[in-house]
Amino acid sequence: MTRIFKFGGASVKNSDAIINLKEIVSLHKEGLTVIVVSAIDKTTNQLEEIWKSYLNDDVDSAIQKTNKCIDFHYDIINNLVLNKDDDFVVQFNSLSNELKSFLSNNKKDNNLSYSKIVSYGELWSTCIISSYLNREGYLNNWVDARKIIKTKLNLIESDVDWEKTNEIVNQTINKKKLYVTQGFISSNSDGLTTTLGREGSDFTASIIGTCLALDEVVIWKDVDGLLNADPKWFDNTKVLKNISYKEAIELSYLGASVIHPNTVKPLQNKKINLRIKSFLVPSNKGSLISESGLDDREIPSLIYKPNQFLLSITTKDYSFVFEEHISEIFSIFYYSGYKVHLMQNSALSFSVCGIISPLKLPLLIKDLQKNYKVKFNEKVDLLTIRHYNSLDIPDFLKSKEILIQQRSRSTIRFVFKDKT
Ligand code: ASP
Repeated sequence: MTRIFKFGGASVKNSDAIINLKEIVSLHKEGLTVIVVSAIDKTTNQLEEIWKSYLNDDVDSAIQKTNKCIDFHYDIINNLVLNKDDDFVVQFNSLSNELKSFLSNNKKDNNLSYSKIVSYGELWSTCIISSYLNREGYLNNWVDARKIIKTKLNLIESDVDWEKTNEIVNQTINKKKLYVTQGFISSNSDGLTTTLGREGSDFTASIIGTCLALDEVVIWKDVDGLLNADPKWFDNTKVLKNISYKEAIELSYLGASVIHPNTVKPLQNKKINLRIKSFLVPSNKGSLISESGLDDREIPSLIYKPNQFLLSITTKDYSFVFEEHISEIFSIFYYSGYKVHLMQNSALSFSVCGIISPLKLPLLIKDLQKNYKVKFNEKVDLLTIRHYNSLDIPDFLKSKEILIQQRSRSTIRFVFKDKT
């Protein structure tokens, strides 16, 4: 059994969590080849703030925030007594100095600087975890993911260059050894740092697992597996113990947030098992996503996405909305970064529910208004129930104004808002 582990930010959020990671590794080291780690806790969010200060030409604030982030990491380093490890200290400090020098000296370029700056979260965390595991006797090599995960030219949410990545991963990784590497970060053919999109570390584990044709990818989470609903919104959630790749892809497409949407496809193509397990109770079985899907239809899943943006688009001259319009509308969505979660059309209008960055919203509306009449509702909610029966429809919907309802044999979806 060969496998790769992925630990997210919450699973390495402090020194105790990192000690817990070591316990997990010690109990499950059989066949373990690669450990992929995200940035510690909310470091990526903080690095995004640093990036914003940097873009606003506020280098002082960027450096101040960076120092705070470094201090936070140093608390963990001191607790793990890594401050006595000279090689580690040199590596960690040189990463930190590199970031500060980039912030002080580089000219501003949105995309290039975004990926470059946020990459330090994963570089720091893996430097700590690799050194700590080495000291504790779990000998491993630290690999810079930017050397092995190659992407096409775009710098953010980059497309993977599978051919190159496959070649380099197989040249670099010896399945009999242990490696620690970063999730989320990569580089393009110009050697520039790129990123795979927020929460992209699951995808990194899937890419490496696929290239090495391992038996299993294990994602360690703070929940007991893939749940049928987010416990933040619903009580009495259940673990989907055994579901198929197809069902997992449908769920992540519909918005279930436990796994990054791109993660499952490559694993399905190579029939590699994906396990979601709890780092809090590692002895629990968790969820297995594989070819067979015993639970696919057994348990209804509820996927709730608040704060959506609902657009209703009509032609100005009452002509039908047909393919040519839809293709134009979608190219506007694509360039403005509007992510579509649900669509519905009639002869004269096309309604879409999705999300967009508030910064890009004015441009989206302006571009659509050139050829269409546009109405919109902000802050609507989207609820999807997969494999529903009428009893699964939550009571709270009765007090809401339903703006769109869509029903198929397996899935029912509601776009709604509070009654006014
Ligand atoms: N650190 C990155 C993020 O917070 C990637 C990840 O955690 O998967 O989005």
